[in-house]
Amino acid sequence: MNREDFINAQRIVIKLGTNILRNEEGEVALSRIYSFIEDISKLIKSGKEVIIVTSGAVGLGKKKLNLETTEGDGVKQACAAVGQSRLMSFYENGFGVFDIPIAQILLTEDDFSLRHRYLSLRTTLNKLLEMGVVPIINQNDTVSTIELADRLAGMKVSFSDNDKLSALVSSELDANLLILLSDIDGLYTSNPKENPDAELIKEVDEVTDEILALGTEASEGGRGGMKTKLEAAKLVTRSGGKVLIANGKVPYIISKIFDGEDFGTMFTPTDENLSGKKRWIGYATNVLGKIIVNEGAKEAILKQSKSLLPIGIMEIVNDFKQGEVVSICDESGLEFARGMVNYDSEECRRIAGGHSNNIVQTLGYKNYDAVITRDNITHLV
Ligand code: GLU
Repeated sequence: MNREDFINAQRIVIKLGTNILRNEEGEVALSRIYSFIEDISKLIKSGKEVIIVTSGAVGLGKKKLNLETTEGDGVKQACAAVGQSRLMSFYENGFGVFDIPIAQILLTEDDFSLRHRYLSLRTTLNKLLEMGVVPIINQNDTVSTIELADRLAGMKVSFSDNDKLSALVSSELDANLLILLSDIDGLYTSNPKENPDAELIKEVDEVTDEILALGTEASEGGRGGMKTKLEAAKLVTRSGGKVLIANGKVPYIISKIFDGEDFGTMFTPTDENLSGKKRWIGYATNVLGKIIVNEGAKEAILKQSKSLLPIGIMEIVNDFKQGEVVSICDESGLEFARGMVNYDSEECRRIAGGHSNNIVQTLGYKNYDAVITRDNITHLV
C-alpha cells in the first residue's frame, strides 16, 4: 500500500509509550510531549479525530516519590495514582494552548470484558469525539486487578498493557489507523539490539505466526514490547484498520508521518473485517473456561467455519455460565478459537461426546444443537 493511502485516515488512535514520554532521568520529556501535542493539534484542526492512549503514569509517579523500585504490594498502583494527575497536567496545559478540550479516561479489563460496560464506553468515546474533545486513555493501574494472581489463575485477560488497550480502543471505535510510538523504529527481521544485520520491515500484509515470532518481550519501564505490539496489530488489521509502529523519539514524528514521510512498519488491513461481535468475542473479554475438542471438530471450525457440536468435545476445563466466552483448544492445548457458549459448563460436561439428538434426553431440554453457534466463534489462527 502506498503511503498516501496508508495515512489517509479520519479516526486515529495514537499510543505514546513510557520510554518516549520520559527522559533519561525518569522525568517527563517536556519538549517531546509538547511536540506530540502540537502535532496532534494540527491533525485535529485539519478535521481529523484523534484518541490518545498514554503510558507514563507509573514511571512519573515513581520519580515523584523518589522510589528505586515499584515492587511490593500496592506500590505500582500508588505510583500510578501520583503520576497520572501529573501526566494529565501536561496534556491539559499543552492542548489548552490550542484551545482543544481533553478528557481523561482510565480503564480496567472489566470495561471491555463486561459487554454492557464495553458498549457504554463506546457511546461515551463517540460522544466526546463528536464534541471535539480529545480522549486521553490509560490503564487504571490503581484499581486494575490483573496483578491479583489468585483471582486470575489461568484467566486470559482482555489487556494488561497499553499496546493491547490501544488496539481494543481502535477496534471498538472503528478507527482507521493506530499509531504505536515507542523508542524503536519498527519491526525488524531479528532483534536489532543483538543482530547488526537486522533489517527494518517496511510493510506487513498479514500478522502470521511467523511475524508474531519476531516479537520480543517488554522494554524496561513499560509493560509492552514488540510482542504486544504485534498482537495489537493483529487485532486491528483483522478489524479492518491499519497500524503503524514507529519511533516516537524522531522529532515531530507525527507531522512527518502525515506529511507522507517514510517511517516505521506499516500493517495493512486483512480482508476479514471481523464484525463487532466477533472482535469482542475474540479479543475483548476475559476468558477462563476452556473446551478441548478433537481434530475433526477443529477442522470443521477452522476450515469450514462450522459450529461446535457436542460430539467433538473431549473435555471441559473450569466452570462457565451460558453466554460466557470460552477458549476452544485442540488436544495439544493450543487455543485456536474463542466462542460464546449456549450451555453452561455442567451441561457441557453431560452432553460432551454425544450426538445433538440426545441433548433433550440428557438435559431435559434443548435450546440449540450446537454448544457454540458458528456466528459466535472467532478464529484466532
Ligand atoms: N499504564 C502504565 C502507565 O501509565 C503503562 C502500561 C504500559 O506500558 O503498557 O505507566
